[in-house]
Amino acid sequence: MERVDVAIVGGGPAGTSAAERAASHGAETVLFEQGVPREDRDALGPDSTDAAGILDYWIDIMDFDYREIPDDVIHRELEATEFIGPSSALELTTTGIDASYPKFGYTFHRTRMDDWLHERATDAGAEIRIGTSVTDLETNLRASSPKGPTHTLTLSSGDQLEAQYVVLADGPQRRVTIDALDQFTPPGRSISNHLSPPEANHIAYQEYREFPPELFEEFDDRLKFWWGYIPGETAYPWVFPNDGTVARVGLTMPIGMRLEDVDNPSSYVLLEPDDETLPSGSEYITRLLEREYGDEYDVETDIPIAEDRGKSKGTETYPISSTRPIDSPVGANIAVAGGAMGATSAFHEGGYHVAVRTGKIAGRLAATDSLEHYNELWKRAIGDEILRNVAFADIVEDYEPDDWDRAFDVVTDMQADGADDVLLSKRYSAGLDAMKILAGYKKRKYRYRNGNYVQFVEDQYLY
Ligand SMILES: Cc1cc2nc3c(=O)[nH]c(=O)nc-3n(C[C@H](O)[C@H](O)[C@H](O)COP(=O)(O)OP(=O)(O)OC[C@H]3O[C@@H](n4cnc5c(N)ncnc54)[C@H](O)[C@@H]3O)c2cc1C
Repeated sequence: MERVDVAIVGGGPAGTSAAERAASHGAETVLFEQGVPREDRDALGPDSTDAAGILDYWIDIMDFDYREIPDDVIHRELEATEFIGPSSALELTTTGIDASYPKFGYTFHRTRMDDWLHERATDAGAEIRIGTSVTDLETNLRASSPKGPTHTLTLSSGDQLEAQYVVLADGPQRRVTIDALDQFTPPGRSISNHLSPPEANHIAYQEYREFPPELFEEFDDRLKFWWGYIPGETAYPWVFPNDGTVARVGLTMPIGMRLEDVDNPSSYVLLEPDDETLPSGSEYITRLLEREYGDEYDVETDIPIAEDRGKSKGTETYPISSTRPIDSPVGANIAVAGGAMGATSAFHEGGYHVAVRTGKIAGRLAATDSLEHYNELWKRAIGDEILRNVAFADIVEDYEPDDWDRAFDVVTDMQADGADDVLLSKRYSAGLDAMKILAGYKKRKYRYRNGNYVQFVEDQYLY
């Protein structure tokens, strides 16, 4: 049987970053990527979920010098982000967090960025096998290797391969991760109860739309999010500017939610009185565009779908499952990185940066026989970011449209000007609402301090 030092499952940002670091540190490294077709890539590649926005300090979290990122990866440099509530709006021109990148952030060409990470991994000496899925992983805890447990990976080709260390980077669908970790969870207590509970299952849908130039100019340097427009936890539409005058207009919404489950349907801007069911993603987007631009433009002819993009005629649909993160079973020589470990934010779905960083750490530690430090080191690197996201996700969990309006008004009153955690952490006396929000945020941060945001800790694995 073929044998390697480090095997990596999944070739997204987490997997390729792990491969690059592992190979750079001298490990014989192989990465398996099932391979997904896209209109904007000639051959199969990773599943490049193209809704790519990066904030300034995320580049530091990725541990990149922003100057090394190739120019053709960046679509738009951003100056701001806008949050729009049913009857209020908020513009932020700073994230308020120290960062080396001089702008607010950027939108990027996800496929090119993913391909750049692949190139770096290959240049470092990693072998990348695109078009080969991993179908099974079995761990031999009692292996005779002096380095401890080994793993047998079964591939879609039917071949098998043995690896000393495995980095699981199969993304938030976790098709390999769940069974691999369940080797070490108590009977009847699958890790999927933590990583894929039904309430965390969302669908993301987006369309590439060609905008009239004068309209595109209104948001060519900003991300726009509409909160309190559609029902459901972390359910919101957005617009991200791309190249030319194309923007991605998308949304996330819960899977399985029914109109009957919505407490106050008439308060949601994008629901209509004669709706009998919740609208589909594409219907929501049409309604959003109609509401925002329908007065002056004919949406279908003036803002058409750019059909030569994305996965399916200018549209893309992805399942998402964002939760709190888990520790990895490092005692079994396994690290879980990126979306698979629950690092993608349940608050805003951002996760490219934490995927790159956790992948880098996992790859380096696997190559240097020090994987036992992984759980400690990823917390040191991304713990503050996870803490912020988890606390925010908790606060807004039950927000209804009015709450969004109130929160945006409060923050506008605060005239946030560059404090750490710009939305909430300044000591303003902007009224009772501000104090309530601030107190709620602090309470949650306190609850999740010292790594308490981890929902399945290392000690819970049974070896
Ligand atoms: C709609 C949407 C919008 C988003 N917007 C942003 C954003 O603006 N900014 C941001 O930072 N993040 C964003 N994210 C989150 C970001 O895309 C993820 O956090 C990030 O891709 C996670 O990286 P990953 O490497 O862990 O997983 P993925 O990128 O999901 O990569 C996993 C890879 O594993 C492969 N794979 C799966 N199973 C197997 C198998 N059995 N064998 C071999 N290969 C396998 C898949 O094909 C895939 O390529 C968004 C996500 C979505 C869905």
